[in-house]
Parts: sequence; C-alpha cells; structure tokens
Amino acid sequence: MTVPHAFDPEPAGSGTAPTHDLDALFPGSGTARPRVVVKPGLVVPHAETLPPEPADLPAVLAPVVDLLTGRRAAVLTGAGVSTDSGIPDYRSPGSPARLPMTFQQFVSSPDHRAHYWARNHLGWGHLQAARPNAGHRALADLERGGALTGLVTQNIDLLHVRAGSRQVVHLHGRYDQVRCLGCGDLSSRAALDERLTALNPGWRDRVAEDLEIAPDADAVLSSTADFRVAPCVVCGGVLIPDVVFFGSNSPRERVERATSLVDEAEALLVAGSSLAVMGGLRFARRAARDGKPVVIVNRGPTRGDELATVKVQVSTTTSLPYLAERLTAGPARG
Ligand SMILES: [Zn+2]
Repeated sequence: MTVPHAFDPEPAGSGTAPTHDLDALFPGSGTARPRVVVKPGLVVPHAETLPPEPADLPAVLAPVVDLLTGRRAAVLTGAGVSTDSGIPDYRSPGSPARLPMTFQQFVSSPDHRAHYWARNHLGWGHLQAARPNAGHRALADLERGGALTGLVTQNIDLLHVRAGSRQVVHLHGRYDQVRCLGCGDLSSRAALDERLTALNPGWRDRVAEDLEIAPDADAVLSSTADFRVAPCVVCGGVLIPDVVFFGSNSPRERVERATSLVDEAEALLVAGSSLAVMGGLRFARRAARDGKPVVIVNRGPTRGDELATVKVQVSTTTSLPYLAERLTAGPARG
C-alpha cells in the first residue's frame, strides 16, 4: 500500500525546522478514509544503543548506597523507569525524533484537536494496559520503608501509583484525566472513551485495519478530519488531556509540591531521566545548590551529570530493587 509519510519528523541534523503547520500535513479531504501509519523506529530503544549493564552491580551501586543510607531522599523519575513496561523513552539514545503538538496548536484549531484526540483515542489504551515493573515496585518499597520523602515523576503513565507509591507529584500530568479549558472540570479519560466511541461509530475498527500497533498513545494518522471530538459535559467547552504539552510549563501548584518534597529531603535520587526538560533539571540544581547529594541512575547522558555527586549507568529495573533491599529493613528476606 502507498503510505504517506507526511508525519515523519525531520531527520536530526537536516537543518530544517520541524513544521508545525499540521493542516499542511493533511492533504486530502475530510471524507477520505483515515489511513494509519506508524512512525518508523517508534519502538523501545534497542539495548545495544544503551550502555551495557555493569557486571558487578553491588560494586557499581556501593557509592549510591553509601550516599543514601541514613538520608531520606526525594526521587525524580522520567521515561527510563517505564521503558521496561513497554512505554518508549523518546529521549534516550537511538530514539526517533518527535514532532509533538504544542498547546498553542491544540487550542488554535478544531483540526488540530481532532488530530490529537484521534491519535489519543487509538493509543491511550496502551497506557491503560501498561503494568509497573520492578523499578516502580522498588520505589514503592523505598517509600514504605521510610527512605523517601516522596516521588516527583515526569511520566504521565500512572505506573508509580499502580505500584503502590503514595506521595507522587505528576509534574507533567496524568493520562487518565481530562480537563475542560472552559470551566476547569476534571473528568476521567475512561468516561470520555465511551463518548468518543459513540461519536465515531466503527472508527477505531476501520483505522485499526491499517494500524501496526504503536506502544504508546502516539499512533500516526494521515487523516483525522472526520474524527469527532467531544465537548465538556458541564459547559460545552474544549476538553484537553490533563497533561503538560510540549513547550508548556507545569502548573505552579504542582511545581510547589514537588519543590517541597525535594526541600524536605536530604538527598535527591534521579532515576531514569535525562533531565532534558528544564522542569526536571531545576530540582537537581536546587538540591545541589543546597548541598544535598544528587544521585543519578540513568542509562545514557543527562543534562544534570555535572551536578551529580554520583552518576551510575544502570537500568532502573535492575538498580532500584537492589537499592530498595539495601536501604530498607523491609520484610524478612529468605
Ligand atoms: Zn467545561
């Protein structure tokens, strides 16, 4: 079949700024049958693009154990914690470039919103179906064991909550909630799914014929003009996922709660984040400024490496269970 690749992001280093004129990327009429293509390379990064796991885990993690023993830590997590739950990390080595929609684009036109919600309608079930991995569970264990002040995550996937973490600040929002831009009403994504399905009978099945399933909510549609979006049930306003869009800032209240968790802590543990966005990096800077140890556990470079007291390149799925065992008394272990 002939598949338009209008949504392929500009290759890195092409020298061309990515276009954000989505209308220009949608040639074809609103009556055309939606065609679905999946971005080339939209996969969890292959292990060979990441540094290998260390052979001697206890030796590599010994300085981390030393720093965190007797110090309650705040934890900042990013996409790397969830890759082993099948959710891709677009910023890790080997990952494809992205062309994320901005908040301004979303609010500027109904076509952008139709495009966004169509993709989200196809993809959100992947997040709904995702399950926590050993790294998420270890962080919940660390919190239960009194080793943490709390957890700040850049992930919208809710996997920390599902793993049992209690004190969680979702810095970038959460995929399971929808907000009204008019009245501020918060509602559930699951309830919206029923409404979108009713408004677009048979739509998901039609496009699913062509859909090679993508591992997150980012399936690529070449035409979404016939997708009908749902308005707010309270005021008829525009609904938007309760997530922070590319280029936007986290709400102040959330940033303040996250800052409090970091300020209450005696150390900061950054797990599975490249700190590529300023929202995360600021916490590492703050902890370092206050003279607190900053521990970074991430495969690949981060923007906070020069702030780190210790940096180890180990997967969070491997390292966090080990740290949980060493840093909490925990249940009796056989
Ligand atoms: Zn409303």
